[in-house]
Amino acid sequence: MVIGVLALQGDFREHGQMLRRIGIDAIEVRLPADLARVDGLIIPGGESTTIGKLLVRFELMDLLRQRIADGFPVYGTCAGAIVLSNQVLDAAADQPVLGVLDVAIRRNAFGRQVDSFEVDLPVPILGDPPFHAVFIRAPIIERIGRGVEPLARLDDGTIVAVQQGHLLATAFHPELTTDGRFHQHFAAIVERSR
Ligand code: GLN
Repeated sequence: MVIGVLALQGDFREHGQMLRRIGIDAIEVRLPADLARVDGLIIPGGESTTIGKLLVRFELMDLLRQRIADGFPVYGTCAGAIVLSNQVLDAAADQPVLGVLDVAIRRNAFGRQVDSFEVDLPVPILGDPPFHAVFIRAPIIERIGRGVEPLARLDDGTIVAVQQGHLLATAFHPELTTDGRFHQHFAAIVERSR
């Protein structure tokens, strides 16, 4: 099993390091040929408008959307979660997105004072202990479609992690911690889909 990390912009190196730390082969994906070599893909945090534009420029957008429709697993963190979503609030109307995850996600939802924070987040599917979640100018998920399962909520009920079958999205950054449980969860999704 090989998991790709989209390496056009953002914190892709940290995802690669995390995958290798938990014993999974990881390669950086920049070109359509790279995509053909991987069983699943992580879209990192960074700047979602830039990542979306580069996906179009590197001719990955349509290809990736097609593979996802065929069951290809993708995990998006923060900006990556935005790129997956089918409704992006507080974004330019022409922000290119994959539009495959049936949620409404709001960019930069925490405002200026608390645009970055860390919290110990209960995540029932991962069990104990809570997951140390790092939020950096993070989005929140405001609506979820029928096939979407919320995996984690803040104390006020705000949804910050979801799964829709083979698609996984977190508003925060597990790759910036030493806790590999989200990456392991994604690897299990990839393994099942092979
Ligand atoms: N605010 C960024 C965006 O909207 C996401 C930030 C991040 O990935 N840490 O794309």
